[in-house]
Amino acid sequence: MKNCIACGMPMKKESDFAMGDTKKDYCVYCARPDGSMQSFEEKKQGLINFTIKTQGLEKGVAEKAVANMMSKLPAWQEYFQK
Ligand SMILES: [Zn+2]
Repeated sequence: MKNCIACGMPMKKESDFAMGDTKKDYCVYCARPDGSMQSFEEKKQGLINFTIKTQGLEKGVAEKAVANMMSKLPAWQEYFQK
């Protein structure tokens, strides 16, 4: 079993993988319609909107929570190097 490199979701079945391709390292939620991985900004905005909607957080709080979460994921390491 792999975890998505872009959001950390465990990918257990084929349909969890982008395009149903188990060789991919990211999940169906992190893929664009053409199967490529979303960019850092796309994923960040998506997660912020998702966090606001599901947890009812203020935008600033959601942005911090998302940045904190993304900083732990392999796909985005280069964006957090200081
Ligand atoms: Zn993902």
